[in-house]
Amino acid sequence: MMKLTVRAVAEKKLAAGQDLLEARDFPALERTDCLAFLVTKKGQQLGTAYLSQQNKGIGWFLSRDKIELNQAYFENLFHKARAKRAHFETSELTTAYRLFNQDGDGFGGLTIDRYGNFALFSWYNNFVYGLKDLIVAAFAKVFPDCWGAYEKIRFKGLDDESAHLYGQEAPETFTILENGVSYQVFLNDGLMTGIFLDQHTTRQRLVDGLAAGKTLLNMFSYTAAFSVAAAMGGAAETTSVDLVKRSRELSEAHFAANGLSMTNHKLVVMDVFAYFRYAKRHGLTYDVIVLDPPSFARNKKQTFSVAKNYHELIAQSLEILNPGGLIIASTNASNLSVSAFKKEINKGLGQTKHRYLSLDQLPDDFVSNKNDESSNYLKVFTIQVNP
Ligand code: SAH
Repeated sequence: MMKLTVRAVAEKKLAAGQDLLEARDFPALERTDCLAFLVTKKGQQLGTAYLSQQNKGIGWFLSRDKIELNQAYFENLFHKARAKRAHFETSELTTAYRLFNQDGDGFGGLTIDRYGNFALFSWYNNFVYGLKDLIVAAFAKVFPDCWGAYEKIRFKGLDDESAHLYGQEAPETFTILENGVSYQVFLNDGLMTGIFLDQHTTRQRLVDGLAAGKTLLNMFSYTAAFSVAAAMGGAAETTSVDLVKRSRELSEAHFAANGLSMTNHKLVVMDVFAYFRYAKRHGLTYDVIVLDPPSFARNKKQTFSVAKNYHELIAQSLEILNPGGLIIASTNASNLSVSAFKKEINKGLGQTKHRYLSLDQLPDDFVSNKNDESSNYLKVFTIQVNP
């Protein structure tokens, strides 16, 4: 295994328990896609890491020991991961959840989700992808109850981003349950699956009646999962807005899966900023507004970034929110801390009276690295305005 010296800043980071490595952590990096044994400038031994270019970062610290990545290593990780999710296995209300979550489960660059009887692997870099056979063999041994699996390639360089991986093939679409609500999912059509599993907690709040009897506007709705959860929890009306045409049929499928008629549920294919203008023009107002934008988006006219533009979404929402109404403000931007996100929200709220009711972060199947705030990337504030 090659020895690799780290800079002082990385030494500190590793001592604090963070695992994600970046190019600037190393004075010289000649090779990637390999294991490396990290040492300090003074020659102190830090432990084993692997190097591989990702969308974010260039590798992961794995262990204070010198380790070998064989099937037994992964079987051990998977056994531990499975034990942490034992309560999900006995649940009859939730059949889709995360089985293995990167550094939270001791191996960055890999996630595995369960969708009913099928597993979905996501590879975040070329190195972990290269260990595929080993990892899949270990997984199949620890999870013999999974009938088959699919994979998503989440790094640049390979042509196909989605493929069948092993075992039985899943139906093109099928339904999973979360908190007793049905959602239609698909495992082999691009990188998305019809639902973002990390939002269990906020959907649970809606199913439990957070929007009961209320009108809800769901901005950046994708497949309208928040609207469906709200409808199941007794919302009077929902309106779901997304730019992408296909979101309409996918949203309808979620509603249909629960036997909900569309009478009180509108689906709008529109830019959210255009919809804010439309709502104001037509005097439409709402009791609950959900904001869940992508971290970064660019269209012909403008770019949107959570760090710079979230306050505009809040300010726009205030103009069409009923007195005492709720804003559910979500972001999955890992580079934005909880406090920086709150600051951005407060900028949008300005002098408006408000009360923070709750903060939801990753649910417990998305085990995160407690020593690294960016590992718990999800932040969902529920705020009451003019209470
Ligand atoms: N809230 C969703 C996930 C949102 S993903 C859920 O719970 O499942 C982000 C979505 O924002 C994508 O579906 C994308 O099509 C949509 N989007 C991006 N920019 C947009 C814009 N300017 N107006 C409306 N929708 C937008």
